Amino acid sequence: MTVEKTVKQTTFNFGKSLGTAQAILAKQRRRLWQFVCLLLFEPTSCLLCQVETRAEANQQDSRQDHLPLCQAIDKPALLARGAKLTRAARATLCMECMEFFCTLTEVKTTLIGDDDSPTMPCFASGFYSGPLQEAIYQIKYLKRPELANALGFALLPPTVALLKSLTDVDTDKIVVVPVPLHKSKVKERGFNQAEELARSVAHLLNAKVDSSSLKRVRATRPQFGLSRGERRRNLDGAFVAASGLATKNVLLVDDVLTSGATIYECAAAVSAAGGTVLGAITLARAKWQKRGQPEESTVVPAISIVI
Ligand SMILES: [Zn+2]
Repeated sequence: MTVEKTVKQTTFNFGKSLGTAQAILAKQRRRLWQFVCLLLFEPTSCLLCQVETRAEANQQDSRQDHLPLCQAIDKPALLARGAKLTRAARATLCMECMEFFCTLTEVKTTLIGDDDSPTMPCFASGFYSGPLQEAIYQIKYLKRPELANALGFALLPPTVALLKSLTDVDTDKIVVVPVPLHKSKVKERGFNQAEELARSVAHLLNAKVDSSSLKRVRATRPQFGLSRGERRRNLDGAFVAASGLATKNVLLVDDVLTSGATIYECAAAVSAAGGTVLGAITLARAKWQKRGQPEESTVVPAISIVI
């Protein structure tokens, strides 16, 4: 082999190796780009309605959500925390579902109690119907705590409404207490939906959640279909609060207000332990007939409708 031939062969092999290396690099770059595209543009499903959506299509600025209500209370930190929860929800819910929950700014306020007992206010994001009813069904019966977390932003309006109702209250002493489930129910479901929602309320208020001081010590049968007296007997002695709640300003949180009897019994237990109940926040409230209807046709005689 001549020297000239050897040089030619070496150049050819070097060129071939260079070409192969470039091809490998190009392939790697293509794979990297495909991976980035997958991360950025992969179709995702809405947590609530399961409609396929694209995360990037749902990233519009959400700082204006709930703004009128928040401006009314002049609490910029609360607004910022609410916006943070809303932005997080946008990554998991489709635009249609987001639009529904963002328009829930007309808080449903109810006074729980009756003529011969003290009343307490309960603030709900909306009525128990449509997407709210569907969401609560999925959280509880399809066992989806992640949906409860995603919907935490919808608790901003009732939280603001509750704060607006308070006068001369030390908000630093607020403790958020979820309505407890009996331990057998927690074991069956795997979580307490009220506790998941209470975390969002506590985040909004920059307060602590206390999920151990109020306990449901007796399993109760469902309240649905029971008369007023039967409801009270069913819940009698079902809740016990620890002395740790004494001197605390307690805010009760539940997923849905139905008869109001459960939250009222929780409030009574907290009061018996020396705590002060500021009110309750729920994601939804059942639609009841207004006070003044004949008692047999009034579904919740213990509740008077304020709004
Ligand atoms: Zn959806």
